[in-house]
Formats: sequence, structure tokens, C-alpha cells
Amino acid sequence: MTYPRELIDPIIIKNKAFDLEGFVFGNGDFSPDIMLIGEAPGEVEIRTGIPFTGRSGKELDKTLAIAGLTRNQVYITSIVRSRPFGKKTIIDKTGQKIEKRPNRMPKKQEILLHAPLLDYEITQVQPKLIIALGGCALKRLIDNKMTISESHGNIWHGKIKQLGADSNYMPSKQAYDIFPTFHPAAIFYNRKIEQNLIADWEKLKEILIAKAL
Ligand code: URA
Repeated sequence: MTYPRELIDPIIIKNKAFDLEGFVFGNGDFSPDIMLIGEAPGEVEIRTGIPFTGRSGKELDKTLAIAGLTRNQVYITSIVRSRPFGKKTIIDKTGQKIEKRPNRMPKKQEILLHAPLLDYEITQVQPKLIIALGGCALKRLIDNKMTISESHGNIWHGKIKQLGADSNYMPSKQAYDIFPTFHPAAIFYNRKIEQNLIADWEKLKEILIAKAL
């Protein structure tokens, strides 16, 4: 999807005030029933320009297959479209200083800056089901108090957060079905959740059949 220039240009300019790099557009079927919302692109994604093409993308493809889905049937985006990076200096074996820019979670102000893009995509796509991949997406869409560990694997229905003219979040006009589950990269840090993650996508398959999606 392309975004109107008046929406995207100010965001790209304001990105410079943050430790954010690159810009990745949403990708996939243009009018899908299902929309996947992740956190932010990583190093691979800002090179390919396609969401979830790195290590976590391989995990995402496996879970999509569990639900009987392919990338062609869904629209994939994230709450922030640029890569948030940290700054770290390490000393290598020869004593040389090396600057590293590891991935990090997006900050509140960065999520707010990119909020109009996500709002625009949701309004354009009109998804019948939104899959929130991980806690950042869940909190951005529904409520900062919600956690993936408590809400994963169950459909939540209601109005979601959209940015108002006063730069505060307000409830959307429309209500949506949201299916929260773990971010695909979560298993790299915690293998224990793998069974829960698989069970979520198996349950999603049943939901899709029941909803005829
Ligand atoms: N994580 C995300 O949320 N999006 C990507 O594109 C890659 C990793």
C-alpha cells in the first residue's frame, strides 16, 4: 500500500529526531480479510523493504501455515515503520572500539509519531480480523494495561485506539475483532512459549473456519 504524501512526508522528517532508520511499507493482499500487525522492522526488513523477511519472518511463515494461511492472503504491517535502534560500543579482541546499533522496542513517542500510518492502513484495509503480534501491537491497539500472556489466543472485540486531532488516542468509530498472539521473535528469547504460540495459531484456524474467512 502507498500512503498519501501529506501523511508520510512529515513522519519521515520527524523520524530524524529519533533513533529510527529506514522505512518499510505494509505488504500483502490489497483487500484481505486478515491484517497482521507487528512491532517494527529489523535490519533485514529495512534492506528488503518487506515486513517480516528476517529471522522472525521465517517463524511467522511457519505459524501462518499452521492456520492454513499464506502471505498472499493477508496484509502485514507494524505499529512503527522504521527500525528503532539502540547504541552500544563494544571493544573487539584487538582493542578496537566498534559501534553497534541493535534493534530495540519502539518508544511511546515513536509509536505516536507513526500512529497516523497505522490508522490509515486499518481504515483502508477494513480487515475482518486483526492479528496483534506481540505486546507492543496489543497495547497500541487496545490498552497499555493489556498483556499478551493474559490475552493471547482469544478474540477481543471492540473499538480500538486511533490518534485524534489533539494527538491523543481516542476510540475508533468502528469496532474490530482482534486476535492477540505472541510476536514471532518471542520464542528466540523464551522457548517455553512455543507450545502456547502453536496452540494460538491452531485455534485461529478453527476461528477462521467458523467465521468463513
Ligand atoms: N518484527 C516486526 O514487528 N516487523 C517486522 O517486519 C520484522 C520484525
